[in-house]
Amino acid sequence: MPVFSLDPAQTAWCAELRTLAAERLRPVAEKGEPGRVNRPLLAALGELGLLKRLFAEDGGALDLCLLRESLAYGCTEAETALALQGLGTYPIVQAGTRAQRERWLPEVIAGRAVAAFALSEPEAGSDAAALTLDAAPERDGWRLSGEKRWISNAPEADFLTVFARTGEAPGSRGVTAFVVPADRPGLSGSALEMLSPHPIGALSFDGVPVTRDDVVGEAGGGFRVAMNTLNLFRPSVGALAVGMAQAALDATLDHTATRLAFGGPLKDLQAVSHRTAEMATRTEAARLLVYAAACAYDAGAADVPKRSAMAKLYATETAQYVVDAAVQLHGARALQRGHLLEHLYREVRAPRIYEGASEVQRGIIAKELYARAGRDRP
Ligand SMILES: Cc1cc2nc3c(=O)[nH]c(=O)nc-3n(C[C@H](O)[C@H](O)[C@H](O)COP(=O)(O)OP(=O)(O)OC[C@H]3O[C@@H](n4cnc5c(N)ncnc54)[C@H](O)[C@@H]3O)c2cc1C
Repeated sequence: MPVFSLDPAQTAWCAELRTLAAERLRPVAEKGEPGRVNRPLLAALGELGLLKRLFAEDGGALDLCLLRESLAYGCTEAETALALQGLGTYPIVQAGTRAQRERWLPEVIAGRAVAAFALSEPEAGSDAAALTLDAAPERDGWRLSGEKRWISNAPEADFLTVFARTGEAPGSRGVTAFVVPADRPGLSGSALEMLSPHPIGALSFDGVPVTRDDVVGEAGGGFRVAMNTLNLFRPSVGALAVGMAQAALDATLDHTATRLAFGGPLKDLQAVSHRTAEMATRTEAARLLVYAAACAYDAGAADVPKRSAMAKLYATETAQYVVDAAVQLHGARALQRGHLLEHLYREVRAPRIYEGASEVQRGIIAKELYARAGRDRP
């Protein structure tokens, strides 16, 4: 398992991605409007072949992590746009019908169709199995009624993977996944303004018709579809965090090496250099946890849930620490609108909440630990 180092081809690919992010994607991202889907940015991700790579059959969780980490280093908006195409489309890739894949995949890969993953509701976030979006049966299918909230890319997405309750069964049973084109009658939405430039919104379903052809996977098997997608994406949220932490660290190394105070550069103050050493060590530890979790996923290892949860938890918490420390070591300039760290300070907060808050990850880790307690010891 290549946990401790990447091979030369992977290292070169990451360098290429960082250059693309900085030189080709950042200028397009800067023309976008905060909180809105940036379609030219998606088109650029398509033209550069990055969306195709996201869905490559020979790709995997490690590739996804390297993509996200490297893009996040140079352009968080491009990283987010790419990841959201993946999150919204993976249910179809993993469990959809051939017709669904043929309808949406080429458009997504070209950066023409915008995808969304609609699981969360006002009353069902961490406890996603408590979702109540109602799928009322009718002759040829169902009608969806209810609300979704905090849905990335909503309401601008062209299609949504929607999780609704088709059965009487409580909790995760009785949930079905549907692919819903955005122009279905009865579907409306509004944008929500967030701390970060993330495009996100609320959706209202007023008897939206769906048929058997729209079911992703099996009726009643929707929760598994959602969890399979999130299992793949969880380590890669950690990778996004590592990319942001590395960008903050590198900016801090440059700044503290050149900023003069008290007769020398800041780095000559031990309080400063030890802080950067701590930032670098934690960032590297987070990276290794992310790569290890991704490799475990690709190898089909039994301990994927624990490793993925550890990677997501540690990397997102570390990125928060590193970005905050970077702001501190930059002083006032870091808080000026438009500064890289002002941007990262806003971007770094949400990943500790979405795709399983840090507390939820700790719950997963603890559950796995106690389930195996005693069994794995010699
Ligand atoms: C930027 C952003 C993008 C998002 N994009 C999407 C998307 O595309 N699709 C989608 O479906 N959802 C999306 N979400 C929603 C996200 O998944 C939820 O916000 C998340 O699941 C938490 O749910 P909640 O906000 O309702 O918080 P709650 O579930 O109300 O939890 C609040 C807090 O309570 C604590 N808590 C909750 N459960 C536990 C527990 N078991 N143990 C200990 N403490 C706990 C945690 O501190 C948690 O942060 C997004 C959210 C954000 C911020």
